Amino acid sequence: MTDSNPIVQQWIRPEIQALKAYQVPPAGNMIKLDAMENPYRWPQYMVDEWLEVLRATPINRYPDPVAAELKEELSLRMGVDPAYEVMLGNGSDELIQIMAMCLAGPDRTLLAPEPGFVMYRMIATFCGMHYRGVPLGEDFELDLPATLEAIAENQPALVFLAQPNNPTGNLFRLESVRAVCEAAPGLVVLDEAYMAFTDRQHLELMADYSNVVVMRTLSKMGLAGLRLGILFGPRAWLQEFDKVRLPYNINVLTEASVKFALTHYDVIKAQTAELRANRAELLAALQQLPFARVWPSEANFILARTAPGQAGAIHQALKTAGILVKCLHGAHPQLEDCLRFTVGTADENRLLLQALHGAMDA
Ligand SMILES: *Cc1c(COP(=O)(O)O)cnc(C)c1O
Repeated sequence: MTDSNPIVQQWIRPEIQALKAYQVPPAGNMIKLDAMENPYRWPQYMVDEWLEVLRATPINRYPDPVAAELKEELSLRMGVDPAYEVMLGNGSDELIQIMAMCLAGPDRTLLAPEPGFVMYRMIATFCGMHYRGVPLGEDFELDLPATLEAIAENQPALVFLAQPNNPTGNLFRLESVRAVCEAAPGLVVLDEAYMAFTDRQHLELMADYSNVVVMRTLSKMGLAGLRLGILFGPRAWLQEFDKVRLPYNINVLTEASVKFALTHYDVIKAQTAELRANRAELLAALQQLPFARVWPSEANFILARTAPGQAGAIHQALKTAGILVKCLHGAHPQLEDCLRFTVGTADENRLLLQALHGAMDA
């Protein structure tokens, strides 16, 4: 079968034809330290209880269209003022897409610092928006003058700030984040995908700026397979976004499973606390290896720069040793020779370090 077809080429928008699909390498039996998943499973008693919940879930029925109870529970557990509206997405990726669809237009810009989360750019393209990436400064700190200048120049409809940032793992100075909220003419989304791994959060910025919403996800804290993203924000914004959300975007199994998981939020919190401790140990150990640079992290991953030209070979050697990490070399000029390691269990991190010792002749 041929993969070129003149009708496809004629009609698929050129900017879509120019894209590469989001690549996820098959993991097989490898140790997965490439996708910021939580490596821990639930204790057996919880799995048993959960299966009982699923047994009673009516999969012949459409999901609860509003999921009011689940939203209320999420606000409560996440310490969000119930005065804010909640919108749920099939992962926060879907929420990014919903907001972009609402704010898109041929002469409208989505702005985000770079290197950053690649879906911002991709979704801007899907939605026919202009994308403006603003390079981060020294040690991946937000370059505030450049960002303010880009905001003044592009008047972006939509700004994304991931805090902590992916793939760099750092928080920008809070005054800089505030300055962006203040200067942006349109919506600013504070993406707190890694909230479980940092003490800073940004809910109070919603009180100070009427153009700010806060987005979270359960993916990085242990429920990546369920696909649940959560948007908190003022009703004025969320009632518009909700018009674009496809009905029943959260399936009954996810809804029931998350409701159940929230009754054991302490288990999730204990797991993420353990990952924070593992992160400190992994960071200290990585700093002993001959990397050109290892950056501290407020997330559940660590970014490191190898000696020039070594990232690909080390990535490959780890793969051969059965460990999958993310090679970011080539993804962005500021990520030259960079590898990103998701923090795993103590055992997984030990195996990673062992393989790195071998690969780096350390
Ligand atoms: C992983 C990630 C997301 C997307 O997570 P979902 O699994 O779609 O909820 C969003 N933003 C950032 C910065 C991320 O790293």
